[in-house]
Amino acid sequence: MAGEPQSDCLFCKIVVGEVPATIVRETDTTVAFRDINPQAPTHVLVIPKAHHRDAAALAAADPVLAADVLREAGEVAAQEKTDTTGYRIIFNTGTGAGQTVFHAHAHVLGGRGFEWPPG
Ligand code: AMP
Ligand code: ZN
Repeated sequence: MAGEPQSDCLFCKIVVGEVPATIVRETDTTVAFRDINPQAPTHVLVIPKAHHRDAAALAAADPVLAADVLREAGEVAAQEKTDTTGYRIIFNTGTGAGQTVFHAHAHVLGGRGFEWPPG
C-alpha cells in the first residue's frame, strides 16, 4: 500500500537505520543523506520517510509530504551554502530517466556549474 514501508526497499531501510547513511538533516517526515556516489561537491538525497515509488506518486498520494520534501531540499541547499550560487533539484522518474531506487527522492546537487539541456 502507498506510504507503507517496503521490506525490499533500500531507502525504507535507511529510514529505520537498517542500512547506514550519512544523514545531514531529518524531520518528522523526511530524511536527507549524502549520495553514496556523488555527482557534485554537494549531492544529497531528500526522501519522505513514507514509501512512495516516485515523485508524482508521492504528490498524488500526499501533497503535503511532497511539499515537505521540496522544502527540505531548499534547507539542504542553504545548509550546504549552495543556495546563493544555484543548485539543482532532480527527481529521476522511471528507468529510462535513470531512476534506480523506487522510493521517491530528490537529488540536491550543488557546488559546481551545470549545463542545460541536461544529459
Ligand atoms: P536514482 O538513480 O535517481 O534512483 O537515484 C538513486 C541514488 O541513490 C543514486 O544516485 C545512488 O548513488 C544512490 N544510492 C544508492 N545506494 C545508496 C546508499 N546506500 N546510500 C546513499 N545513496 C545511495
Ligand atoms: Zn521505500
